[in-house]
Amino acid sequence: MTSAPTRPLRLAIIGAGPAGVYTADLLTKAERDFEVSIDLFDRYPAPYGLIRYGVAPDHPRIKGIVKALHKVMDRGDIRFLGGVDFGTDLTLEDLREHYDAIVFSTGAVRDADLPVPGVDLEGSFGGADFVSWYDGHPDVPRQWPLTAKEVAVIGNGNVALDVARMLSKHADDLLVTEIPENVYEGLKASPVTDVHVFGRRGPAQVKFTPLELRELAHSKDVDIVLYPEDFEFDEASEQVAATNNQVKTMVGTLTNWLVEDQDSGASRRLHLHFLQQPVEILGEAGQVAGLRMERMELDGTGNVKGTGEYIDYPVQAVYRAIGYHGSPVPGLGYDERKGVIPNDAGRILDENGTPVPGLYASGWIKRGPVGLIGHTKGDALETIGCMLEDQPDLWSAANPDEQAVIDLLESRGIEYTTWEGWLKLDEHELGLGATATGSGPVQRERVKVVPREDMTRISRG
Ligand code: NAP
Repeated sequence: MTSAPTRPLRLAIIGAGPAGVYTADLLTKAERDFEVSIDLFDRYPAPYGLIRYGVAPDHPRIKGIVKALHKVMDRGDIRFLGGVDFGTDLTLEDLREHYDAIVFSTGAVRDADLPVPGVDLEGSFGGADFVSWYDGHPDVPRQWPLTAKEVAVIGNGNVALDVARMLSKHADDLLVTEIPENVYEGLKASPVTDVHVFGRRGPAQVKFTPLELRELAHSKDVDIVLYPEDFEFDEASEQVAATNNQVKTMVGTLTNWLVEDQDSGASRRLHLHFLQQPVEILGEAGQVAGLRMERMELDGTGNVKGTGEYIDYPVQAVYRAIGYHGSPVPGLGYDERKGVIPNDAGRILDENGTPVPGLYASGWIKRGPVGLIGHTKGDALETIGCMLEDQPDLWSAANPDEQAVIDLLESRGIEYTTWEGWLKLDEHELGLGATATGSGPVQRERVKVVPREDMTRISRG
């Protein structure tokens, strides 16, 4: 073992979403015999990653998570550096010079591919892109073509439910949330009447969670429509419904909705279909005109097989919400199939499968885009455990001074933002919410600033 460290361990974390914040927080609290000095970088001027840009705005539970993350960052022992794009503004080599260890928590933000004909037609959208639009993501165009009356959402996860709920809900019922003005205007003008959500497996195999399912029933003037022929349960389904409370609750909720009459004559309908797999997105003149689904049947194990029976739905837009996928991180290996940085319990591996000293991963870029936000904590703990084990060999930075990296950013003209800057932007957005008048008398908690330049200007102003 090398001699006791005489200076704090310098750690850079790339990505200030929940995974990055939890990793920083848990390391500051971990039992250790050395000091740490942590810089938490994000490509955007604001922190919180997918909490700010990936969660539906009408999700009250998330607010609690934001509060908890805010509390961590507001302690002042983790330095936030926003508006810094890893791979462009700073390279791996730069970080190696200034930090002893680097954790990548860059998440998974793009839509998984759906390999069916017609996927590139106009009107075929990635669910994650739509989420970015309604969450005011600075990199997504502000106009979204909400022209379809009948819409399909493919997938049976929480993102599919978020997308379907946002598409079917009346815009006025979202006024109390933090949606940007243009999102309100866009949704308000939507002529949608029917949103069809498709799961390829049965009601006992859904990936969404009970609370999110029940939330569907809270949309005003939206009827939920279910179909008896979709309610098929094989042995595996019966077993999971009997042993897993979550599945039992959801099967119960869906079955109740099926038997109770949900038809209140609402102006919009949200249809939940099961056991149907997309085969082709049908087009006319380059535009989505329908969706061809194959009816599936359960094979006894909870998986499905095709029946050869096809059903065409007349829809003018298709949203693919079949899961997120990671993106390569410049300078590091990448497992294209899983969408993760190859790693062993968080230690990043080289092409020979050997851990690269000082490089770690946490969150979705480590384990793939599954699990709720809370699961990211356990994951961060595992990564930190590896770092603490490796600690004797970590002190390696040639230029570990905290000011040195700031000098580097300034010498490159990078308009980085800080935690104090975020507090200014936060206050500004809350102020916009309190004084919002454009959409009626409803006081809004916050209105998000969307253009990146404006976010940076307000943060640095
Ligand atoms: P997900 O939970 O993995 O769900 C993906 C869905 O897409 C599954 O129903 C899957 O079916 C289906 N699918 C995959 N490939 C398909 C294909 N080729 N054709 C048809 N269907 C296909 O992913 P997600 O909804 O993106 O959510 C990601 C994570 O974020 C989840 O852990 C989720 O709970 C979490 N999240 C939570 C919230 C919340 O708490 N409110 C909100 C958003 C996201 P199979 O099951 O058959 O594979």
